[in-house]
Amino acid sequence: MKVFKFGGASVKDAVGIRNLRQIIEGDDNELVVVISAIGKTTNALEQVVAAIYDGDKHLAQSRLEAIRDSHIEIAKQLGLNESPITGILPDTDVSAYVNIFDYDKLYDQVVSLGELLSTSLIAAYLQSEGVDARWLDMTHILLTNRCFREAQPEIAHSATHLKEALCKEHHRINIVQGFIGGTADGLRTTLGREGSDYTAALVANFIDAESVTIWKDVPGILNADPRRVEHTTLIPELSYIEAVELAYSGAQVIHPKTIRPLENKRIPLYVKPFGDPTAAGSVIYDTDKKIDVPVYIWRDNQTLITMRAKDFSFVLEESLSHIFDIIHRNRLKVSMIQSSAITISVSVDTSRYIDEALKELGADYRVTYNGGLSLLTIRGTTPEILASEQKNRTILLSQKTRRTARLLIKN
Ligand code: ASP
Ligand code: MG
Repeated sequence: MKVFKFGGASVKDAVGIRNLRQIIEGDDNELVVVISAIGKTTNALEQVVAAIYDGDKHLAQSRLEAIRDSHIEIAKQLGLNESPITGILPDTDVSAYVNIFDYDKLYDQVVSLGELLSTSLIAAYLQSEGVDARWLDMTHILLTNRCFREAQPEIAHSATHLKEALCKEHHRINIVQGFIGGTADGLRTTLGREGSDYTAALVANFIDAESVTIWKDVPGILNADPRRVEHTTLIPELSYIEAVELAYSGAQVIHPKTIRPLENKRIPLYVKPFGDPTAAGSVIYDTDKKIDVPVYIWRDNQTLITMRAKDFSFVLEESLSHIFDIIHRNRLKVSMIQSSAITISVSVDTSRYIDEALKELGADYRVTYNGGLSLLTIRGTTPEILASEQKNRTILLSQKTRRTARLLIKN
Protein backbone atom coordinates (compact mmCIF):
# COMPACT_ATOMS: atom_id res chain seq x y z
CA MET A 1 0.00 0.00 0.00
CA LYS A 2 1.03 3.58 -0.58
CA VAL A 3 0.04 6.82 1.12
CA PHE A 4 -0.76 9.96 -0.86
CA LYS A 5 -1.25 13.34 0.78
CA PHE A 6 -2.91 16.36 -0.81
CA GLY A 7 -2.64 19.74 0.90
CA GLY A 8 -5.21 22.52 0.87
CA ALA A 9 -3.68 24.29 -2.14
CA SER A 10 -3.85 21.17 -4.32
CA VAL A 11 -7.59 20.69 -3.73
CA LYS A 12 -8.55 24.35 -3.58
CA ASP A 13 -11.16 24.14 -6.36
CA ALA A 14 -12.93 21.78 -8.76
CA VAL A 15 -9.92 21.78 -11.10
CA GLY A 16 -7.64 20.66 -8.29
CA ILE A 17 -10.04 17.92 -7.20
CA ARG A 18 -10.33 16.57 -10.76
CA ASN A 19 -6.55 16.57 -10.89
CA LEU A 20 -6.45 14.56 -7.63
CA ARG A 21 -8.71 11.99 -9.29
CA GLN A 22 -6.36 11.74 -12.26
CA ILE A 23 -3.37 11.27 -10.00
CA ILE A 24 -4.95 8.47 -7.99
CA GLU A 25 -6.26 6.82 -11.15
CA GLY A 26 -2.78 7.00 -12.62
CA ASP A 27 -1.56 4.66 -9.87
CA ASP A 28 -2.76 1.09 -9.45
CA ASN A 29 -1.74 0.51 -5.85
CA GLU A 30 -4.09 0.36 -2.94
CA LEU A 31 -3.96 3.88 -1.50
CA VAL A 32 -4.68 5.69 1.71
CA VAL A 33 -5.26 9.28 0.61
CA VAL A 34 -4.77 11.90 3.31
CA ILE A 35 -6.44 15.22 2.52
CA SER A 36 -6.30 18.65 4.18
CA ALA A 37 -9.03 21.25 4.33
CA ILE A 38 -9.77 22.95 1.01
CA GLY A 39 -7.74 26.12 0.26
CA LYS A 40 -7.85 28.55 3.14
CA THR A 41 -10.76 26.86 4.96
CA THR A 42 -8.77 26.35 8.18
CA ASN A 43 -8.07 30.08 8.47
CA ALA A 44 -11.75 30.81 7.81
CA LEU A 45 -12.77 28.32 10.52
CA GLU A 46 -10.44 30.06 12.96
CA GLN A 47 -12.58 33.15 12.36
CA VAL A 48 -15.68 31.13 13.25
CA VAL A 49 -14.01 30.10 16.50
CA ALA A 50 -13.14 33.74 17.21
CA ALA A 51 -16.78 34.78 16.74
CA ILE A 52 -18.07 32.00 19.01
CA TYR A 53 -15.47 32.89 21.61
CA ASP A 54 -16.58 36.53 21.44
CA GLY A 55 -20.15 35.40 22.05
CA ASP A 56 -21.37 36.46 18.59
CA LYS A 57 -23.31 33.37 17.62
CA HIS A 58 -24.98 35.07 14.69
CA LEU A 59 -21.68 36.09 13.08
CA ALA A 60 -20.24 32.63 13.75
CA GLN A 61 -23.20 30.97 12.05
CA SER A 62 -23.00 33.17 8.99
CA ARG A 63 -19.25 32.60 8.66
CA LEU A 64 -19.73 28.85 8.95
CA GLU A 65 -22.52 28.86 6.41
CA ALA A 66 -20.32 30.73 3.96
CA ILE A 67 -17.72 27.99 4.33
CA ARG A 68 -20.31 25.27 3.79
CA ASP A 69 -21.73 27.09 0.77
CA SER A 70 -18.31 27.31 -0.85
CA HIS A 71 -18.05 23.52 -0.55
CA ILE A 72 -21.49 23.04 -2.06
CA GLU A 73 -20.48 25.33 -4.90
CA ILE A 74 -17.41 23.18 -5.65
CA ALA A 75 -19.58 20.05 -5.41
CA LYS A 76 -21.89 21.45 -8.07
CA GLN A 77 -18.96 22.28 -10.32
CA LEU A 78 -17.94 18.64 -9.95
CA GLY A 79 -21.35 17.56 -11.17
CA LEU A 80 -22.77 16.48 -7.82
CA ASN A 81 -26.37 17.28 -6.95
CA GLU A 82 -27.01 19.64 -4.09
CA SER A 83 -29.38 17.43 -2.09
CA PRO A 84 -27.18 14.37 -1.59
CA ILE A 85 -24.15 16.54 -0.92
CA THR A 86 -25.81 18.51 1.86
CA GLY A 87 -26.70 15.17 3.46
CA ILE A 88 -23.07 14.03 3.34
CA LEU A 89 -21.39 17.17 4.67
CA PRO A 90 -20.95 17.36 8.45
CA ASP A 91 -23.41 19.33 10.52
CA THR A 92 -22.54 23.02 10.58
CA ASP A 93 -24.91 24.39 13.20
CA VAL A 94 -22.88 26.47 15.66
CA SER A 95 -25.33 25.67 18.48
CA ALA A 96 -23.37 22.46 18.95
CA TYR A 97 -20.32 24.51 19.95
CA VAL A 98 -21.47 27.63 21.79
CA ASN A 99 -21.38 25.93 25.18
CA ILE A 100 -17.74 24.90 24.99
CA PHE A 101 -15.84 27.44 27.07
CA ASP A 102 -12.33 26.02 26.86
CA TYR A 103 -10.77 27.83 23.90
CA ASP A 104 -8.50 25.00 22.71
CA LYS A 105 -11.26 22.42 22.98
CA LEU A 106 -13.69 24.67 21.11
CA TYR A 107 -11.05 25.33 18.46
CA ASP A 108 -10.59 21.64 17.74
CA GLN A 109 -14.31 20.86 17.49
CA VAL A 110 -14.83 23.66 14.95
CA VAL A 111 -11.58 23.77 12.99
CA SER A 112 -11.65 20.00 12.36
CA LEU A 113 -14.78 20.57 10.26
CA GLY A 114 -12.49 21.71 7.43
CA GLU A 115 -11.04 18.26 6.84
CA LEU A 116 -14.43 16.58 7.38
CA LEU A 117 -15.94 18.86 4.72
CA SER A 118 -13.13 18.38 2.19
CA THR A 119 -12.93 14.60 2.53
CA SER A 120 -16.71 14.02 2.45
CA LEU A 121 -16.95 16.12 -0.67
CA ILE A 122 -14.00 14.47 -2.42
CA ALA A 123 -15.04 10.93 -1.50
CA ALA A 124 -18.56 11.60 -2.82
CA TYR A 125 -17.14 12.99 -6.05
CA LEU A 126 -14.82 10.01 -6.58
CA GLN A 127 -17.70 7.58 -5.98
CA SER A 128 -19.88 9.50 -8.44
CA GLU A 129 -17.13 8.95 -11.02
CA GLY A 130 -17.11 5.21 -10.36
CA VAL A 131 -13.84 5.16 -8.40
CA ASP A 132 -13.69 2.42 -5.76
CA ALA A 133 -13.27 4.93 -2.92
CA ARG A 134 -14.56 5.02 0.62
CA TRP A 135 -14.47 7.62 3.36
CA LEU A 136 -13.06 6.91 6.80
CA ASP A 137 -13.41 9.17 9.84
CA MET A 138 -10.11 9.77 11.64
CA THR A 139 -12.00 10.98 14.72
CA HIS A 140 -12.54 7.30 15.50
CA ILE A 141 -9.29 5.96 14.08
CA LEU A 142 -6.48 8.30 15.13
CA LEU A 143 -6.82 8.10 18.89
CA THR A 144 -5.10 10.99 20.69
CA ASN A 145 -4.69 12.42 24.17
CA ARG A 146 -6.73 15.48 25.22
CA CYS A 147 -4.06 18.06 24.52
CA PHE A 148 -6.34 20.08 22.25
CA ARG A 149 -4.68 21.94 19.35
CA GLU A 150 -1.56 19.82 19.70
CA ALA A 151 -2.89 16.38 20.36
CA GLN A 152 -0.50 13.46 20.59
CA PRO A 153 -1.52 10.21 18.94
CA GLU A 154 -1.66 6.92 20.80
CA ILE A 155 0.35 4.96 18.29
CA ALA A 156 -0.52 1.34 19.13
CA HIS A 157 -4.29 1.85 19.38
CA SER A 158 -4.48 4.04 16.31
CA ALA A 159 -2.50 1.54 14.26
CA THR A 160 -4.88 -1.25 15.25
CA HIS A 161 -7.95 0.87 14.48
CA LEU A 162 -6.67 1.78 11.04
CA LYS A 163 -5.65 -1.74 10.10
CA GLU A 164 -9.02 -3.08 11.24
CA ALA A 165 -10.90 -0.44 9.27
CA LEU A 166 -8.90 -1.21 6.13
CA CYS A 167 -9.35 -4.98 6.48
CA LYS A 168 -13.03 -5.03 7.28
CA GLU A 169 -14.02 -3.94 3.82
CA HIS A 170 -11.74 -3.76 0.87
CA HIS A 171 -11.54 -0.64 -1.35
CA ARG A 172 -8.63 0.49 -3.50
CA ILE A 173 -8.93 4.12 -2.43
CA ASN A 174 -9.33 5.03 1.22
CA ILE A 175 -9.97 8.71 1.90
CA VAL A 176 -8.98 10.04 5.34
CA GLN A 177 -8.65 13.46 6.93
CA GLY A 178 -5.25 14.91 7.69
CA PHE A 179 -4.67 16.97 10.84
CA ILE A 180 -7.51 15.55 12.94
CA GLY A 181 -7.96 12.77 15.46
CA GLY A 182 -10.22 12.07 18.40
CA THR A 183 -10.19 11.28 22.10
CA ALA A 184 -11.40 7.96 23.51
CA ASP A 185 -14.75 9.63 24.32
CA GLY A 186 -15.22 10.89 20.77
CA LEU A 187 -14.18 14.57 20.97
CA ARG A 188 -12.32 15.81 17.92
CA THR A 189 -8.70 16.92 18.32
CA THR A 190 -6.14 18.47 15.98
CA LEU A 191 -2.42 17.81 15.67
CA GLY A 192 -1.25 21.43 15.20
CA ARG A 193 -1.47 23.69 12.14
CA GLU A 194 -0.19 22.14 8.93
CA GLY A 195 -0.42 18.75 10.62
CA SER A 196 -1.67 16.76 7.63
CA ASP A 197 1.85 15.75 6.57
CA TYR A 198 2.26 14.31 10.04
CA THR A 199 -0.97 12.32 9.62
CA ALA A 200 0.34 10.92 6.33
CA ALA A 201 3.57 9.82 8.02
CA LEU A 202 1.70 8.21 10.91
CA VAL A 203 -0.65 6.36 8.57
CA ALA A 204 2.33 5.07 6.57
CA ASN A 205 4.01 3.92 9.76
CA PHE A 206 0.84 2.11 10.96
CA ILE A 207 0.36 0.14 7.76
CA ASP A 208 4.04 -0.28 6.80
CA ALA A 209 3.38 1.55 3.58
CA GLU A 210 5.73 1.20 0.66
CA SER A 211 6.06 5.00 0.37
CA VAL A 212 4.42 8.34 1.06
CA THR A 213 3.92 10.95 -1.65
CA ILE A 214 3.08 14.53 -0.75
CA TRP A 215 1.57 16.31 -3.76
CA LYS A 216 2.38 20.01 -3.68
CA ASP A 217 2.25 23.23 -5.66
CA VAL A 218 6.05 23.29 -5.99
CA PRO A 219 8.32 21.03 -8.09
CA GLY A 220 9.70 19.31 -4.97
CA ILE A 221 11.97 20.42 -2.14
CA LEU A 222 13.73 23.60 -3.20
CA ASN A 223 16.81 25.24 -1.71
CA ALA A 224 14.80 28.39 -0.92
CA ASP A 225 11.21 29.59 -0.82
CA PRO A 226 10.32 30.65 -4.40
CA ARG A 227 8.11 33.41 -2.98
CA ARG A 228 11.22 35.00 -1.49
CA VAL A 229 14.05 34.10 -3.82
CA GLU A 230 14.07 34.45 -7.57
CA HIS A 231 16.37 31.56 -8.50
CA THR A 232 15.79 28.31 -6.68
CA THR A 233 17.25 24.84 -7.19
CA LEU A 234 15.49 21.51 -6.71
CA ILE A 235 17.08 19.18 -4.15
CA PRO A 236 16.43 15.73 -5.67
CA GLU A 237 17.52 13.57 -2.73
CA LEU A 238 17.82 14.16 1.01
CA SER A 239 18.54 12.02 4.04
CA TYR A 240 16.03 11.88 6.91
CA ILE A 241 18.43 13.87 9.11
CA GLU A 242 18.76 16.68 6.60
CA ALA A 243 14.99 16.77 6.14
CA VAL A 244 14.49 17.12 9.90
CA GLU A 245 17.02 19.97 10.01
CA LEU A 246 15.28 21.78 7.18
CA ALA A 247 11.82 21.31 8.66
CA TYR A 248 12.96 22.46 12.11
CA SER A 249 14.64 25.54 10.66
CA GLY A 250 11.26 26.48 9.20
CA ALA A 251 11.19 25.06 5.67
CA GLN A 252 7.50 25.25 4.81
CA VAL A 253 7.61 22.30 2.50
CA ILE A 254 7.24 19.73 5.22
CA HIS A 255 5.96 19.61 8.79
CA PRO A 256 8.76 18.93 11.34
CA LYS A 257 7.01 15.97 12.98
CA THR A 258 6.66 14.13 9.69
CA ILE A 259 10.07 12.52 9.44
CA ARG A 260 10.27 10.43 12.59
CA PRO A 261 7.45 7.94 11.89
CA LEU A 262 8.95 7.38 8.44
CA GLU A 263 12.57 7.13 9.50
CA ASN A 264 11.59 4.54 12.12
CA LYS A 265 10.44 2.22 9.37
CA ARG A 266 12.69 3.42 6.58
CA ILE A 267 9.72 4.51 4.46
CA PRO A 268 10.68 6.90 1.64
CA LEU A 269 8.86 10.22 1.32
CA TYR A 270 8.38 11.73 -2.14
CA VAL A 271 7.47 15.39 -2.64
CA LYS A 272 6.00 15.87 -6.11
CA PRO A 273 4.29 18.63 -8.07
CA PHE A 274 0.56 17.94 -8.44
CA GLY A 275 0.59 19.81 -11.73
CA ASP A 276 3.11 17.38 -13.26
CA PRO A 277 2.66 13.90 -11.74
CA THR A 278 5.37 12.23 -13.79
CA ALA A 279 8.11 14.67 -12.67
CA ALA A 280 10.67 13.14 -10.33
CA GLY A 281 10.30 15.71 -7.53
CA SER A 282 12.35 15.07 -4.39
CA VAL A 283 12.76 12.02 -2.22
CA ILE A 284 13.68 11.82 1.46
CA TYR A 285 15.07 8.39 2.33
CA ASP A 286 17.79 6.39 3.98
CA THR A 287 20.86 7.82 2.28
CA ASP A 288 24.23 9.33 3.15
CA LYS A 289 23.96 11.89 0.36
CA LYS A 290 24.64 15.47 1.41
CA ILE A 291 22.89 18.51 -0.01
CA ASP A 292 25.43 20.29 -2.19
CA VAL A 293 23.81 23.70 -2.69
CA PRO A 294 23.32 26.46 -0.10
CA VAL A 295 19.85 26.25 1.47
CA TYR A 296 17.97 29.31 2.75
CA ILE A 297 15.20 28.77 5.27
CA TRP A 298 13.02 31.43 6.80
CA ARG A 299 11.13 30.99 10.04
CA ASP A 300 8.89 34.03 10.52
CA ASN A 301 6.90 35.34 13.51
CA GLN A 302 9.70 35.02 16.02
CA THR A 303 9.93 36.64 19.44
CA LEU A 304 13.27 36.97 21.21
CA ILE A 305 13.01 36.64 25.00
CA THR A 306 16.04 37.57 27.11
CA MET A 307 16.23 36.65 30.77
CA ARG A 308 18.68 38.02 33.28
CA ALA A 309 18.90 36.75 36.84
CA LYS A 310 17.64 39.32 39.34
CA ASP A 311 20.28 38.44 41.89
CA PHE A 312 23.33 37.90 39.66
CA SER A 313 23.13 34.15 39.97
CA PHE A 314 24.38 32.29 36.96
CA VAL A 315 21.34 31.71 34.83
CA LEU A 316 22.82 28.97 32.76
CA GLU A 317 24.02 26.76 35.56
CA GLU A 318 21.29 27.29 38.08
CA SER A 319 18.10 27.96 36.20
CA LEU A 320 18.19 26.31 32.82
CA SER A 321 15.79 23.52 33.64
CA HIS A 322 13.42 25.93 35.39
CA ILE A 323 13.32 28.25 32.38
CA PHE A 324 12.75 25.43 29.95
CA ASP A 325 10.08 23.93 32.13
CA ILE A 326 8.13 27.21 31.86
CA ILE A 327 8.72 27.37 28.13
CA HIS A 328 7.62 23.79 27.62
CA ARG A 329 4.52 24.03 29.82
CA ASN A 330 3.40 27.12 27.92
CA ARG A 331 3.79 25.32 24.59
CA LEU A 332 6.37 27.72 23.21
CA LYS A 333 8.39 26.43 20.28
CA VAL A 334 12.06 27.30 20.61
CA SER A 335 14.01 28.11 17.46
CA MET A 336 17.34 29.38 18.85
CA ILE A 337 19.14 29.63 22.20
CA GLN A 338 22.10 31.77 23.24
CA SER A 339 23.66 32.43 26.63
CA SER A 340 26.17 34.62 28.45
CA ALA A 341 27.29 34.49 32.07
CA ILE A 342 24.09 35.89 33.52
CA THR A 343 21.61 36.03 30.64
CA ILE A 344 19.94 33.56 28.39
CA SER A 345 18.18 34.50 25.17
CA VAL A 346 15.62 32.28 23.55
CA SER A 347 13.89 32.85 20.26
CA VAL A 348 10.42 31.28 20.03
CA ASP A 349 7.53 31.17 17.56
CA THR A 350 5.16 34.00 18.48
CA SER A 351 1.91 32.53 19.81
CA ARG A 352 -1.01 33.33 22.04
CA TYR A 353 0.69 31.47 24.90
CA ILE A 354 3.60 33.91 25.12
CA ASP A 355 2.04 36.39 27.56
CA GLU A 356 1.48 33.73 30.18
CA ALA A 357 5.05 32.44 29.82
CA LEU A 358 6.45 35.99 30.10
CA LYS A 359 4.46 36.48 33.29
CA GLU A 360 5.83 33.29 34.82
CA LEU A 361 9.39 34.05 33.76
CA GLY A 362 9.06 37.60 35.08
CA ALA A 363 8.57 36.27 38.60
CA ASP A 364 12.20 35.13 38.78
CA TYR A 365 14.08 36.97 36.05
CA ARG A 366 14.34 40.39 34.53
CA VAL A 367 12.74 39.72 31.18
CA THR A 368 12.91 41.73 27.96
CA TYR A 369 11.43 40.72 24.65
CA ASN A 370 11.25 41.73 21.01
CA GLY A 371 8.58 40.56 18.57
CA GLY A 372 8.18 40.73 14.80
CA LEU A 373 11.44 38.95 14.00
CA SER A 374 12.43 36.37 11.39
CA LEU A 375 15.03 33.68 11.68
CA LEU A 376 17.05 33.04 8.54
CA THR A 377 19.03 29.79 8.52
CA ILE A 378 21.60 29.34 5.75
CA ARG A 379 22.98 25.82 5.42
CA GLY A 380 26.09 25.41 3.33
CA THR A 381 26.93 29.08 3.76
CA THR A 382 30.14 30.80 2.60
CA PRO A 383 31.67 34.05 3.90
CA GLU A 384 30.39 35.81 0.75
CA ILE A 385 26.83 34.58 1.17
CA LEU A 386 26.83 35.53 4.83
CA ALA A 387 28.20 39.01 4.16
CA SER A 388 25.57 39.65 1.53
CA GLU A 389 22.71 38.43 3.75
CA GLN A 390 23.86 40.59 6.65
CA LYS A 391 24.05 43.74 4.58
CA ASN A 392 21.41 46.40 5.35
CA ARG A 393 19.73 44.27 8.00
CA THR A 394 19.26 44.73 11.73
CA ILE A 395 20.41 41.49 13.27
CA LEU A 396 19.55 40.89 16.92
CA LEU A 397 21.30 37.58 17.31
CA SER A 398 23.52 35.46 15.12
CA GLN A 399 25.13 32.05 15.35
CA LYS A 400 27.56 30.41 13.04
CA THR A 401 29.10 27.00 12.76
CA ARG A 402 31.40 25.92 9.97
CA ARG A 403 28.63 25.39 7.43
CA THR A 404 25.50 26.89 8.94
CA ALA A 405 24.65 30.50 9.78
CA ARG A 406 21.56 31.61 11.67
CA LEU A 407 20.46 35.24 11.75
CA LEU A 408 17.62 36.62 13.83
CA ILE A 409 16.47 39.61 11.82
CA LYS A 410 14.29 42.58 12.71
CA ASN A 411 11.79 43.07 9.89
N1 ASP B 1 -5.83 22.23 7.35
C1 ASP B 1 -4.81 22.29 8.35
C2 ASP B 1 -4.08 23.63 8.28
O1 ASP B 1 -4.31 24.40 7.37
C3 ASP B 1 -3.86 21.15 8.27
C4 ASP B 1 -2.98 21.11 7.03
O2 ASP B 1 -3.25 21.78 6.05
O3 ASP B 1 -1.99 20.37 7.05
O4 ASP B 1 -3.31 23.92 9.14
MG1 MG C 1 -2.74 23.44 4.73
